[in-house]
Parts: sequence; C-alpha cells; structure tokens
Amino acid sequence: MTKKVLVLGEVREGALRNVSFEAIAAGKKVSGGGEVVGLLVGDAVQSLGNEMISYGADRVVTVEHPHLKTYTSDGYSQAFMAVYEQEKPDAVVFGHTALGKDLSPKIASKLQSGLVSDVTSIDGEGDSAVFVRPIFSGKAFEKVKIKDGINFFTIRPNNIEPLAKEEGKTGDVQSVSAEITNLRTVIKEVVRKSTEGVDLSEAKVIVAGGRGVKSEEGFEPLKELANVLGGAVGASRGACDADYCDYSLQIGQTGKVVTPDLYIAAGISGAIQHLAGMSNSKIIVAINKDPEANIFKVADYGIVGDLFEVIPMLTEEFKKLKA
Ligand code: FAD
Repeated sequence: MTKKVLVLGEVREGALRNVSFEAIAAGKKVSGGGEVVGLLVGDAVQSLGNEMISYGADRVVTVEHPHLKTYTSDGYSQAFMAVYEQEKPDAVVFGHTALGKDLSPKIASKLQSGLVSDVTSIDGEGDSAVFVRPIFSGKAFEKVKIKDGINFFTIRPNNIEPLAKEEGKTGDVQSVSAEITNLRTVIKEVVRKSTEGVDLSEAKVIVAGGRGVKSEEGFEPLKELANVLGGAVGASRGACDADYCDYSLQIGQTGKVVTPDLYIAAGISGAIQHLAGMSNSKIIVAINKDPEANIFKVADYGIVGDLFEVIPMLTEEFKKLKA
C-alpha cells in the first residue's frame, strides 16, 4: 500500500537545514511510491517551499505566524496539528535534531502513534521498509519493521543521502492557518554559543581535539585544518572540562552524535563515551602520541605522533591540493 508522508523541513536563520532534504529522501522510501508532503513552520517560510519541492517533495504546506518565529514545543505542535487535521498523513518524518527529538515524541504520544527514532538507514520501501537504528550507544543496530497505524520517524543527520536536486523545479505551496495560543514558553532572545563555521551535527568533515590539545590556543591549528577542509571543529569532554573550548563542541554520549564522512581525532584517547558519539563516522583518522591509545581501535587510519607537528603538515598538504 502506498502512503502519504508528511516531512518537516527545519529552518534555521532563514534557510532550510540539510537534514530536511535527507528527510524528504527518507519520506519517499516510507511512502512506497505514495505522496510526500513537505511541512514548513515559521514566521516567514513560504519562500522556502519550492526548495523542498526541488529536493523531491510532491507539494508543500506552510504554517506562518509571528509566534512561530522561534521554536517552542507548544507553538510547533499546534501548527503541526492544524496540518495533521487537514492532511491526515500515514507517516511523519522529522530530523533527529534537537527540534525533532523534542517535538516528535510529544505529537506521536498525543496521536497514540509509534515512533522510530534515530534512524540511520532504510532498507526496502513502503510496507516492506525496514528501519535501522543504533542502540547501546552505537554498539549494536536494531532493525524495526512497522505493522500498521500512523508512524513517526526521526532520521539521524548525515546518514540518508538526499535526492538529486531538480534545479528550478516549482510546485504547489499552500498556506494553512493555525491558531497559535496559550504558549507556555515565550522566547525573548536566542543567544548562540558558536555561530561561526559549519554546523557540527551536519558537517561532512570534523576535526576534533581532546585533552592532548593542551590549551585554548592549542585548538588554533585544528581550526585551520577544519577551515581548509570546509569542516567543523569538535572536541572530547576532556577538552571541554579543561576549559579549552565550549561544551557546544562536545561529541559523545553526553554531547553530540555525529556521522561525518571524515572524522579526525587529535589528542583524544578514545574513551567509550567519546566513541559513542563518533564511531559511526565513515572514515576515522586518529592522531595520538600513544600507540596504545584506544582511539586506534576504531580508526581507519592511525598516525602515531605529536598533533602539533602532524596537524600543520596535513593543513599544508590539503592547501596544496586545493591550490
Ligand atoms: P584523555 O583521556 O586525557 O586523552 C588525551 C589523549 O591525548 C591521550 O591519549 C594522549 O596520549 C594524547 N596526547 C597528549 N598529547 C598529545 C600530543 N601532543 N599529540 C597527540 N596526542 C597527544 N567524553 C567525551 O568525549 N564525550 C562524552 O560525551 C562523554 N560523556 C561522558 C559521560 C559520562 C557519564 C562519563 C563518566 C564520562 C564521559 N566522558 C565523555 C569522558 C570520558 O570518559 C573521557 O574522560 C574523555 O573522553 C577523555 O577525553 P580525552 O580523550 O580528550 O582526554
């Protein structure tokens, strides 16, 4: 049976996050040849509708309201429910982001629906789709098959390939009105801790530093390498605890979970809690002075050496490749 699938597009600072396009690709698989309807929520999102269509959404509905300028659980769930009542989808896909993790269980429980969270791949499509998700901090993978009922899915950023963009494609973008009232949270101001550079959770390349980086200044060569590679800087909790960098950079069990194409770990020992956040990266390069460091067990390429010598050498070589 084909399905109608609603896919939430996530907007940050006026632009669609990449995970929105990955969610459309996931929605296509879930639909099994049915319809994928994009959903945009915000105060001025109508203009982004066609971008969702160019990435494969069949049509888009938007809910615009001044109270939806920034995310609140109450506001977005009211907007979602207005669209849900109109569209009555068979399934819903969100990104496994801070927003998706907050909103999806709230609405799924309200609708008495199942929720499959943190999906990293989908085998097959439609009714025969099997959803793969990591469990026990990435040490094992669970395969989930859905029997019936409407279902919610959150997909982990950077794992499901978006469909090829059809440049210039336009389509049906329809506005839905919703009453947004009785908000229990009012966002007065959004203060971002790290606004520069690439978003860590969506970065294709991450250069991460640990306690071996030794100081705040020690992160400079890592930042330079990340810049040359068009990537983001991350960190172990050891580095954050030592005040070498902000906790927003922390990767691991109690930090961000990332799956870039390339993860360079410099001066990180490879504690199990760190591995929980990065061991599913596609290629892992470890740089450590200690040849016995645990990080080498998960690394595809290991460099035994001083990061302050190795990182500048890598930066120079990558600069040459780019020249
Ligand atoms: P260390 O273990 O001190 O390792 C530093 C490494 O740098 C060493 O291997 C050393 O050989 C190497 N080194 C030193 N100098 C150089 C040099 N010049 N060049 C190259 N290599 C060098 N940790 C996380 O990262 N993320 C989490 O989310 C997280 N959550 C946790 C949750 C709980 C409940 C607990 C108990 C712990 C958690 N931790 C987490 C902490 C974790 O257990 C480790 O303590 C931490 O990851 C260690 O950080 P590190 O590898 O930077 O430091």
